[in-house]
Amino acid sequence: MAVNVSAEFFWQTLFLQVEDEIFCVPRCEFEESSEIFADMFTLPAGANGNVEGESQDHPIILEGYRKEDFRCLLRVMYPRASQLLSGDQPSFNLEKTEWISVLRLSTIWGMKKIRSHAIHVLSNNMQLSLIEKVNLGREHKVEKWFVEGILDLVDRKSTLSLTDLADLGWETAARILWIRDPDSRPGSGKLAVPFKLSSIKCPHCVKSAILSWRCSHCQTMLSGEHEFFVLGKQIMNGGRKVGPREARVQLSLVKCNLCKQSAIAQRALSCQTCNGSIQASSQPVFQMPDLSEEMVNEVFGDEIKEYKLVSTSLGM
Ligand SMILES: [Zn+2]
Ligand SMILES: [Zn+2]
Repeated sequence: MAVNVSAEFFWQTLFLQVEDEIFCVPRCEFEESSEIFADMFTLPAGANGNVEGESQDHPIILEGYRKEDFRCLLRVMYPRASQLLSGDQPSFNLEKTEWISVLRLSTIWGMKKIRSHAIHVLSNNMQLSLIEKVNLGREHKVEKWFVEGILDLVDRKSTLSLTDLADLGWETAARILWIRDPDSRPGSGKLAVPFKLSSIKCPHCVKSAILSWRCSHCQTMLSGEHEFFVLGKQIMNGGRKVGPREARVQLSLVKCNLCKQSAIAQRALSCQTCNGSIQASSQPVFQMPDLSEEMVNEVFGDEIKEYKLVSTSLGM
């Protein structure tokens, strides 16, 4: 009887050595998941006729990797039927640290689908702390985690212990604290802080003061939706208690965004809600914009760009 080899199930085995352990698996999965491996398999045989990876005596030696990481990756690449058929969802039975191992190697070897899946599982099924998001995002170039972690950490509402700061590494910790604390920024005095006129609170009726007047410099009629700015050094965030992202600013220091000059030369403006007069020399409360995203981009922008590039090329 003439026999044929199966077109579907006739797997070539692949021998790989990581540290002191030899693994033997079907080759096709490595070939299909990773261009790096696919290229490696096209290399010609050595001088003695031995093709690396084809026998236990001549495995492909993967140097610089840990066998624990490699085993986790293989569990995802070669699941067993019993795992796939148990429950509603295929379960690889991996712990958080094991998924991180999968992420590590799939990133290095450009295994897009496996990497995306590892990120998905770690994002949705495992609890990642903010510190982990930053550190893992940085180590494995996951832009999403890195940005989420940093944005939450620069928010003054999040707590940061000394241990957290140490875990972030002191340089990152210092940058995060620098963003959190406006008083620590020497350059911030020159930073123009933009706001809308409607963000000024009337001291009498404690609502947004509805004000309109002509800019003392360019004579443009100004109202609630116009953008104004004050310089960072003119924001007084002390004295009486001011809420989150609220600051007291002397009204006469407000600058017009159109002509960049002082917009209020008159002695007082009147609130159109309550008719109360607000002296130009007084310091009403302003609702300040959230500048943390801009600051994060200024401080971590290059790093974010780098991870975005990797995340885009690897599909996540
Ligand atoms: Zn008022
Ligand atoms: Zn003006």
